[in-house]
Amino acid sequence: MSSTTGVEIQSAAAKIDPLGEVRPRIPLVYIASPSFSGSTLLTFLLGAHPRVSTMGELRWADMDLATYRCSCGDLLNDCSYWKQVEQRVAARGLPFSVKRPQTTFRFRSAPLTDRVARSGVRGRVFELVRDVLLRILPASRNGWRMVRDVNYATMEAMIALRGGGVFVDASKEPTRLKHLADTGDYDIRVVHLIRDGRGVTNSGIQNKRLDVRTSIREWYETHRQIERLRGRFDAARWFQLRYEDLCAAPQSRMTELFQFIGLEPIALTSELDVTKFHVLGNRMRLEFSGHIALDEKWRTALSPAALDEFERVAGGLNREYGYA
Ligand SMILES: [Zn+2]
Repeated sequence: MSSTTGVEIQSAAAKIDPLGEVRPRIPLVYIASPSFSGSTLLTFLLGAHPRVSTMGELRWADMDLATYRCSCGDLLNDCSYWKQVEQRVAARGLPFSVKRPQTTFRFRSAPLTDRVARSGVRGRVFELVRDVLLRILPASRNGWRMVRDVNYATMEAMIALRGGGVFVDASKEPTRLKHLADTGDYDIRVVHLIRDGRGVTNSGIQNKRLDVRTSIREWYETHRQIERLRGRFDAARWFQLRYEDLCAAPQSRMTELFQFIGLEPIALTSELDVTKFHVLGNRMRLEFSGHIALDEKWRTALSPAALDEFERVAGGLNREYGYA
């Protein structure tokens, strides 16, 4: 090897700003909930705070970059905010593509590991096996570390660009919350967002074409998984929020929530500017007007048979959350 190559390698390495093992913990608010529980609304209300950075769900669907628009209105390909995020993550020597950044804890080249990584949160024995498989065995350890680093660098970049000190991750999934907590990279506060299971069941049927039973089970199982994680967090770091209460009194619920996060509460305005958030995700990113209305279509849409089925599977838990 010539000395010239050595110099080139050294100067290339000097450009990379690697993440050390000891890194400042990022203040992170994680919204944990089933789908259709009002997390997009909550994300916009939180994102209105000048100290909050967010992009909604930190995961990517299959997007056609030729047509997909960021919430700022630009094509995702042309959005200067995302270009800057990309540059900052790349400056850490990490891979980042706006098409699908490696922020999900997945291992597509190793199917068994991938299945274990994505599985729902379960009991202690399974979680012990999962930890050994993902974080200790050499085959998956490096992959896990890379996803860990990409997540950290991405959130770090978004916080720097927005100038806010708190990151809100509205990915919702319990398993992702577990993975993020395992990294030790975040100072986490959890918002456990709950909506009447009958409303969520109806939304799943209407929007995802789920059958009644599957839709009910999704609501029930997701909350069970979230509850399993509760013991990992100090009670002062866990906030249970009902969507219906948020809709009924947005200002007082958000004031409580900002205090829980450790932020000065702000007055909500009826006109939220969604363009500045650069949110990806569902249609609401382009359509949200700041208008808050409770969706209670389930009261007329669900059949008596569907309501009976709901009662059998999930009625008890729904009542525990205060729904009569
Ligand atoms: Zn944008």
